[in-house]
Amino acid sequence: MSPRGAALLLAGTFLAAGGAIWLRAATAGLPGEGVAVPEYVEEAFLTPNAWSRPGTPLEDIEGVVIHYVGNPGTSAQANRNYFDSLAAGTDGVYASSHFIVGLEGEVLQCVPLTEVAYASNGRNGDTVSVEVCHPDAQGQFSDVSYARCVELTAWLCRTFRLDPATDVIRHYDVTGKECPLYYVEHPEAWEAFRADVAAEMEAQDQADG
Ligand SMILES: [Zn+2]
Repeated sequence: MSPRGAALLLAGTFLAAGGAIWLRAATAGLPGEGVAVPEYVEEAFLTPNAWSRPGTPLEDIEGVVIHYVGNPGTSAQANRNYFDSLAAGTDGVYASSHFIVGLEGEVLQCVPLTEVAYASNGRNGDTVSVEVCHPDAQGQFSDVSYARCVELTAWLCRTFRLDPATDVIRHYDVTGKECPLYYVEHPEAWEAFRADVAAEMEAQDQADG
């Protein structure tokens, strides 16, 4: 083989190895890869698009960010459809969430756990987002929505080995935005939520034996 041929072969080998490493990083080894969601979660993925489902890999899951939808009385489906409508780009708005907990405790999943959602600003890259519907402008979750949000958050903490005392945060804790409003205005209600998540984690651990 000529020196030039050897150099080309070497370059080709490096390219192939680099490509294989990139492919592996892009398709496997993500923390959310192959994770089966609980049976109460309904898959309702957004259409891939730049505004609400960019397809960016979620390479770390280090927290859960809780939000309120901010639009009293709207359903999980209506909020999911709003995120999907952003795909047109006419609003110029980037927004989405991994999960939406509805007024009846239903849960829609809008973005896979292997992809980034646009919900939590500087923490989009390493957190899972949960939006919660609420009946009125105060933003307090209904009992059934609250219970479901606790159940889902506890499952996320167990699955991704997160501590609810430090890793479950409000949108407020990222940007100072008053979201989820009631749990910003009532810090004791927020601490109770975190405690309820911790208790639910123990209950789920025991149920799983
Ligand atoms: Zn928010």
